[in-house]
Amino acid sequence: MKGFAKKIILLLDIIIIALGLLGFIQIWQKPDLPLRLIMKNDHVIILNTGGVNIPGFTAEKFEVTVVDGKQVRTKEDVEFVCDGLHVGSVIQVDIRVGSKLQTISIRLIPFYGILYIIILLFLCILIITVAVIVIIKRPIKDKSAWTFHFEMLMVYCLLSMTWGNYIFPNLTSGVFIRLIFSFAYSFVPVFFVWFTFVFPKEKWDKTERLIMIIGFIAMILSIGMGYSFYLASTSKSLLWFKVYKTWFDICRIFFAVSIIFSVLNLGHSYKYAAEESDRRKLRWIFLGALIGPLLFVLLWQIPQLFTSSALIPEELMLLFTAAVPLTFGFSIVRYHAFDIDLLFKRSTIYGTLLLIIITVYVILVGGFAILIGKLTVFNSVVLSGAASIISVLIFQPIQTRVKKYVDKKFFVVQYSFSEVQVEITDKLDNCLSVHEVAELIITEINKILPIQYTAFILFNTAEPEKKVIFADRDESSEQVKNLPELRFENILPESLTPAFMDNSVEKGISILPAKPKEFGESSFCGVLPIGSTANAIKAVLLVGKKRSEFVFSYEDITLLTFICGQAAAAIVRIDLYKNLLSEKTLSTKLKELNEIKSFFVSTVSHELKTPLTSIKMFSEILRNSKQSPEKQEEYLNIIEGESDRLTRLINNVLDFARIEKGIKEYNFTEVDLVLLVKDVLRMMQYQLKMHSFTTSESYACLECPILADKDAVIEACMNLISNAIKYSDLARSIQVSLEVCEDIAVLTFRDKGIGIPGEKLNEIFEPYSRVKSNAALHAGGTGLGLAIVRHIMDAHKGRIEVQSSIGEGSTFSLIFPLIKNLGKMNHE
Ligand code: ADP
Repeated sequence: MKGFAKKIILLLDIIIIALGLLGFIQIWQKPDLPLRLIMKNDHVIILNTGGVNIPGFTAEKFEVTVVDGKQVRTKEDVEFVCDGLHVGSVIQVDIRVGSKLQTISIRLIPFYGILYIIILLFLCILIITVAVIVIIKRPIKDKSAWTFHFEMLMVYCLLSMTWGNYIFPNLTSGVFIRLIFSFAYSFVPVFFVWFTFVFPKEKWDKTERLIMIIGFIAMILSIGMGYSFYLASTSKSLLWFKVYKTWFDICRIFFAVSIIFSVLNLGHSYKYAAEESDRRKLRWIFLGALIGPLLFVLLWQIPQLFTSSALIPEELMLLFTAAVPLTFGFSIVRYHAFDIDLLFKRSTIYGTLLLIIITVYVILVGGFAILIGKLTVFNSVVLSGAASIISVLIFQPIQTRVKKYVDKKFFVVQYSFSEVQVEITDKLDNCLSVHEVAELIITEINKILPIQYTAFILFNTAEPEKKVIFADRDESSEQVKNLPELRFENILPESLTPAFMDNSVEKGISILPAKPKEFGESSFCGVLPIGSTANAIKAVLLVGKKRSEFVFSYEDITLLTFICGQAAAAIVRIDLYKNLLSEKTLSTKLKELNEIKSFFVSTVSHELKTPLTSIKMFSEILRNSKQSPEKQEEYLNIIEGESDRLTRLINNVLDFARIEKGIKEYNFTEVDLVLLVKDVLRMMQYQLKMHSFTTSESYACLECPILADKDAVIEACMNLISNAIKYSDLARSIQVSLEVCEDIAVLTFRDKGIGIPGEKLNEIFEPYSRVKSNAALHAGGTGLGLAIVRHIMDAHKGRIEVQSSIGEGSTFSLIFPLIKNLGKMNHE
């Protein structure tokens, strides 16, 4: 389907080209009076006679009034009358000076000179070629390609079918060609406006609507022009010709306004272009738009202000307009083929080259024309063809010379190998990551010998699929995507030698030749391995052609190989350093773990020992001596209390192990928190009494149901109470309070103990964390209690909070969601 659309377009092109050739012959056959006429005070005045014998002629005094029986008022009238006649015909012209009238027979001559025709032909061929290339190269869905194609087609019609002899070969074909011309004249601006909305990217979703409107205006204008010309030419009426001219003038205004609007639109696209590549494309367009119109102003219009003639002939001016289709075409098809920025800098120098070629071309054509004498269409085409071939032949050697000169002067940075060596090695030594190495060598290489595309591809030995790509700019990474497959083992078989395409390096350098298929569609032409040994290639450096478009010299390759070697060394160093660093962190971690282990073993054994000693001691007392029943009761209580402590400790250790393994399970049932707290206090009664603690309790409600694992909550409370006991000094009291606040229950344990420093408040919930202070020196512990409490609270969808100040005491609050709230939350 896509191919079909392209074929239809190309078929249309062929028809248009054929019609253009007909129009071209009509231009060639366009007749003119030999007289040079100017308009003065609405009269057609003779400036010079062009060799015609007019008796008593004085310049600017004689007026042409009637041509071939038609009363003429403007130069265009004369042109229109002549266009309807043949070159070589003899016609009667009435000439008036004052009141004196004389009729003179004049033979019509060709309107355009041979050079003009040749250049016009050249321009037409160029335009149509660019138009066809664009449509062939770009996918059909690329709107900018086909709007440009039709734009160029219209321009082709405009140039090849402009006012010519409209009776060649007969009136019908003349009128038909002029109708197409009218159509093209009105639609050039339409397609240009359209183009500016879709290039470089589509920018407005209502473009089609706008195009419909201006397309409609253009249609009316072309019908108006075409029909009035039909009437004027068939009736040979100057009155209808005037109507045609009015339509034509309106069309000119439409043309100018649309073109100004389009240029502004392109400026807008440039300003808001999101990507640099878009800007580069637009710069091509601007370059073309600059060369044509700028030279027109500089060489054509300004000189005419000061002298009566332009600096260059009209023919040459026409030639400069060739820049427009060329640069536009470049912009769409191969905007990245050359560096536009570079081109801007170079354009002055290359302008000289262009001038030389044009001069040669003009001299050749002019010389031949003089030699051959009378020119016919046939030999003029042959002549222009031959001149073009000769120009092309001499173009190559001149271009090489000029280029060499330009490159020497402007583009080859004269690098000193030894200085570059030292500088790059120094810089690479300071790189701390492979990333830095990649970026450094890309920038350095581009500084020394500007290359069109450079990319650095880092391989991942563990996962070969994962490659990291660094590139000097977006276009280069795009080029990497065009590589068929990054299988460089084909190109670099067990060696560290770089591989380059044959045509990209100077002859006679010993490097591996790369095959085009290895670089696929991409514009890279060389690959340099980066590795310490051949079978440990870490990365590759891909290079495109040099910007100067010169091939890589022996020195360039040696330099690139050196840089890659240094980069390889830097990468090996970075890798080693990284390994060393990770080994170091591993050993520090192990050391820390060891410390924790020994701390744990010593504290736990100490913690186990204390209650065991009391248990043993009191059991021995009971066994060996007779005690009063009260004393017995007291000792048994101590034994029971110490066993409880032991159980708690062992539970903590076991619990923590379960938490760490992730296998601690909770068994949730509805629990009354008031009852639970009372139970805890009863269980801890002995401990509290032993350490002479006073307790106070306050409950904000009679019962407070929560969903909880009863044993876990008891464990949490006991941990907090035993902490309060452990970390209290002289002021020994614990206040336990339960408050209910909307949807939460807050259970608080307040002591008047040693307190916790502010900066440690977050740390104490971490496993094994203990505050090392003098006051807490004697209190034993594992540092696991609060970590367990926090885990328990998390499991209950609650939290633990602490407030504390040194020497004044601490307050730990356990916050539980109430059952009704849980229900609500679940429901939500
Ligand atoms: P352990 O008590 O076994 O050291 P915890 O996790 O229960 O471990 O407590 C961690 C640290 O928090 C304790 O070492 C102690 O320094 C501090 N701490 C805990 N509760 C209190 C408290 N009520 N008063 C003062 N410091 C406390």
